[in-house]
Amino acid sequence: MTVSVAIDLALDRLFTYSVPAELTEKLLVGQLLRVPFGGRVARGFAMALADDAVAEKGEERTFKLKPVMAIEDASPFFSPKLLELVKWIASYTASPIETTLKAALPAAVLKPTMKPKELLYVDALDVADGLTAHQQRLLAEIRRVGGGWMQQLVREFKTSPSTLRAMAEKGALEIAPRAQRRDPLAGRSVMPTKPLPLNAEQTAALEAVMRAVPAADGASAADPRPVLLHGVTGSGKTEIYLQAIAGVLASGRGAIVLVPEIALTPQTVRRFAGRFGDKVAVLHSALSDGERYDEWQRIRTGAARVVVGPRSAVFAPVHGLGLVVVDEEHDPSYKQGETPRYHARDVAVVRARLEGAAVVLGSATPSLESWRNAQTGKYALVSVPNRVAGRTLPAVHLVNMEEEAARTGHVPIFSAPLLDAIHLRLERGEQTILFLNRRGYSRVLECQSCGWTAQCPDCSLPYTYHQADHCLRCHVCGGWTHLPSECPDCKARDFSYTGVGTQRAEAALKRCFAHARVLRMDADSTSRRFSHDDILSAFRAGKADVLLGTQMIAKGLDFPNVTLVGVLNADTSLHRPDPRASERTYQLLAQVSGRAGRAEKPGEVYLQTFSPDAPAIAAAASERGFASFAAGELAARRGAYLPPYCRLSTLVFRSQSESLASSWADLYAKSLAAWAAKFNAPRGADLFRVSEAAEAPLAKAEGWFRYQVVVRAPASKDIVAAVKWIEKERPAPKDIRIAFDVDAIDLA
Ligand code: ADP
Ligand code: ZN
Ligand code: ZN
Repeated sequence: MTVSVAIDLALDRLFTYSVPAELTEKLLVGQLLRVPFGGRVARGFAMALADDAVAEKGEERTFKLKPVMAIEDASPFFSPKLLELVKWIASYTASPIETTLKAALPAAVLKPTMKPKELLYVDALDVADGLTAHQQRLLAEIRRVGGGWMQQLVREFKTSPSTLRAMAEKGALEIAPRAQRRDPLAGRSVMPTKPLPLNAEQTAALEAVMRAVPAADGASAADPRPVLLHGVTGSGKTEIYLQAIAGVLASGRGAIVLVPEIALTPQTVRRFAGRFGDKVAVLHSALSDGERYDEWQRIRTGAARVVVGPRSAVFAPVHGLGLVVVDEEHDPSYKQGETPRYHARDVAVVRARLEGAAVVLGSATPSLESWRNAQTGKYALVSVPNRVAGRTLPAVHLVNMEEEAARTGHVPIFSAPLLDAIHLRLERGEQTILFLNRRGYSRVLECQSCGWTAQCPDCSLPYTYHQADHCLRCHVCGGWTHLPSECPDCKARDFSYTGVGTQRAEAALKRCFAHARVLRMDADSTSRRFSHDDILSAFRAGKADVLLGTQMIAKGLDFPNVTLVGVLNADTSLHRPDPRASERTYQLLAQVSGRAGRAEKPGEVYLQTFSPDAPAIAAAASERGFASFAAGELAARRGAYLPPYCRLSTLVFRSQSESLASSWADLYAKSLAAWAAKFNAPRGADLFRVSEAAEAPLAKAEGWFRYQVVVRAPASKDIVAAVKWIEKERPAPKDIRIAFDVDAIDLA
């Protein structure tokens, strides 16, 4: 027997080894193996097994295969289905198989040093013969608390290890080493919850989801299509997920819930842990390696059957997967920004199909890709158009900032109507969320006399002034510098700060409302591990009147006392050079607006804008604007041959030499254009389109120049084939890096 092994090097190549007789019975695909490799010992995953007979029929072997040395861990890290999924991603995104395997498995899981420590655990037994009076009292205490760690019991009952050992010798206790679980939820209070009685719309939605779940006896689902759950904010989607998961668990299967990392707040985790307790495993970026190791092992052994996590949780080795939920399915954080550049929503759909599981994509503002799939019938569409318990959607007001500026003679940070609304909330003791998608005090430091702006020398981006430490920071590379005392160009000392960041808005707000208690939340105020949680808990507990923040506060949060949401500049994401700028703007505004009036008290939203007529802004101001926005935007995309009517990929060429980056981008663009001509000719249509090479919107980052080529075609595989061809024809030199992003979600 032979086995092909993926070794931990990004060679995109499998190596074949022979399987020694003593291992043939034990070796399984997905296991981690130890193999000889170029004079050293390497570790790698078993990808496929083959009979010698089959191998011999293939290419003739002129060399002797080296044998596998050992199986590192008897239980496979990847099930055959997961391996199939990994192979699909590698081929779909044109990524090396080894890199893809790595992305699918947390590094901590493979570190032998991460194995949990074993400590002595004490259990009380039934025998109580021959104990002293003191020992009898101790036994009763230990029975009462149900056993515990030796160290803990010694401390708690002021006894000694030798006393406990003596009791064990008499048969009253059992003392044995046990692995101590590193629990990410330890010390957090989780209140158990019961399923809520669903309203009619929720019931219909749950039924639709359950039609996609295969029956317990293995019979196939009534309607196995992916379900797109389009429910307005506060329509009770999470409760639907919870009850669908309960149904899946009842039939002995497991579930994965993907949430955007930003929405993976303790609040979200508590909702799942509150319903399913210990069966829930949580994965997120702030876990320690030990916690990640243990959570992952609990999933792998089947102890945890519900996994809640960000995009990489789509790979969780859940036993008998029955359901995958992708909450906020439109969220851009589902797309991985490095190789393999997979989209977790798409991977969820493929994984569910491979494993015969149901998949639910939920959102108040679905991606146009998913919306179109629902329109064509590829996905089943379920709508929940109303909030639960008769709660209304907030009234959304547009504030035309052009008029405000004309009236007041300058562009105010806060318009008069918004100030009035905040004032009212302060009087009523209700809370306000203010949203500004830009951190820092203000964005750009500009010379008043010559127009010079402070810019990061390594990135083509203006510096942002940060008031807290009085310096200029680059939001791309993190570099910083002191404030200049004079303009380097004209020596004038007259600077202005254009644009408004969260810190400046906070200062302005405090000037308007001296007594308002304001909390600010952005990447600068939340660098400590629990700071995010601290700020939100404080706000929830009513310790502040206003929460002011960046997109961190845009989604997922559910604060009953918030009745006002203000968006200081609704246009920030509208004018980006990106085909999805309009869609993103609409999504962001609708999500932020959805934070208002989620409980009994009705909510109100003020959107400050210079473009009240832009479709994305106008739609965000109308109560059920999504369908009409989507129809208009889809028509525009069809006309412009943009996704979802084609597949769009980018090639980004990075080099420290600008001419190298630009010339290689140019060479690739021309070669791909030649390929396109050959592709299009027999089809009689301009289906394969290649842009000219151009500076990327972010033209320079961390000292690297960036050039970009955009490719569109009917299918991703058409683009992959073309790019693989040119990469082979004209392999790039070492000092230029090419990043190929199949299904790019933005141009950067
Ligand atoms: P969504 O995920 O769609 O934004 P949630 O699931 O967070 O909505 O629900 C919004 C609020 O309504 C939550 O506080 C939730 O507990 C509550 N809720 C959900 N379903 C019901 C129901 N059937 N009856 C009463 N309250 C509900
Ligand atoms: Zn100047
Ligand atoms: Zn920089």
